[in-house]
Amino acid sequence: MKMKIRLVVLKVLSIVFFLFITTPHLLGQNNDSLNLAKESQHFNLYSTNGDIKVLYSLAITLENNYSRITNHLGIQIDKKINVKVFPNVKTFHAAINYPNAPDWVVGSCNGDELMMVSPLNPGSVHTYESLMQVIVHEFLHIAVSHARGDNGWTTLPRWLSEGYAQYEAGQVNEYIRKSVKSSLIDKTPPTWTQLDTASVMEFGKMNGYGLSVMIVEFLIVTYGIDKLVLLIKEPENIEIIYGLSKDALEKQWIHYLKE
Ligand SMILES: [Zn+2]
Repeated sequence: MKMKIRLVVLKVLSIVFFLFITTPHLLGQNNDSLNLAKESQHFNLYSTNGDIKVLYSLAITLENNYSRITNHLGIQIDKKINVKVFPNVKTFHAAINYPNAPDWVVGSCNGDELMMVSPLNPGSVHTYESLMQVIVHEFLHIAVSHARGDNGWTTLPRWLSEGYAQYEAGQVNEYIRKSVKSSLIDKTPPTWTQLDTASVMEFGKMNGYGLSVMIVEFLIVTYGIDKLVLLIKEPENIEIIYGLSKDALEKQWIHYLKE
């Protein structure tokens, strides 16, 4: 059981980890073998012939989440987003110029383009289902970029961008909650500032993804989505938006985690 929990947590965490490594410079893309194979209202999907049959499900998944996400963020995206589906982990890693990446590296975004491994061939760590969440997660980063205009999403506090992407993609679950709770039995969690200033490696090691989605869940459950969206647009105004000091908010969050 413990192994299973770890595996599920790893799967969820792995999705997001990679973005920091690759964004914003994706060099050496090898997209020649992918063709535009499906268009939906808001997306153009590219794949090899072998993956055409999964594009319908990917397009439906994206479109089913599109209005909720753009409404939450109060944005309109005036062009179609490109989605590139690579036939396996190896070709995806080659495309992102990271040939020796581990198998859990399965998704990325660059500007207004999503790239991911085909859910039909998810590799040794991910599953069809988890890749259906990965694509929504990556779209979230693009949508947040649009909401922030020139500021982009990579300058957001990491707990906020990763936490919100996971939250909207439905990646918070009982396994995450248990992993966060059990990590707090003997110690206090890192502060939000520590989560922001950690390196990518440190962030992963301190269960930063699990903690981040629990922060966002706490803020939405307690104060509503509208304030969270304000925070995404103006994170420097956190104390004005919530009418509390950051310390007081963090204390409330720890209380929320322990409940
Ligand atoms: Zn992410």
